[in-house]
Amino acid sequence: MIKVDPGKCLGCLSCSNVCPNQNIVLLQSADTRTVHWKKCKEECDLCVEFCPAKALALVAYDELVPESEISFELVACRVCGSRYATLPMLMKVEASLPAGMQEDASGLEWIRICSQCRRDIEAEKAAGQVMKERKRISP
Ligand code: SF4
Ligand code: SF4
Repeated sequence: MIKVDPGKCLGCLSCSNVCPNQNIVLLQSADTRTVHWKKCKEECDLCVEFCPAKALALVAYDELVPESEISFELVACRVCGSRYATLPMLMKVEASLPAGMQEDASGLEWIRICSQCRRDIEAEKAAGQVMKERKRISP
């Protein structure tokens, strides 16, 4: 069965996404994400392989051990306020950025903005550049 290290888990759901037997379940509300690991007897090892934090291990099945569950508070997007990621996930991404980018405040800022807002900001920027170019070449 699967053993989770709560000190390492990021709440990223990679394990849940690859589990072929739906043994790892997401319970999500507006501001909290809970990951629930059922007691698995399959031992296919996919979740262990795909965990980016090495938080999972295969251990011998034990009837007495309860199922595992970890809850994470979701971090709010700095633009729209919607809650979109766990703090450990964001900290992991920030820690993996190249040193130059970490010194760049705007580079770090992107990580604290949800993907929808990032797309909107990029689209707005691109549209602004197109308009500027049209003005430049218009007679
Ligand atoms: S070992 Fe395989 S079946 Fe069991 S929880 Fe992990 S991915 Fe799912
Ligand atoms: S893949 Fe690893 S870090 Fe991500 S939720 Fe599963 S156990 Fe946690």
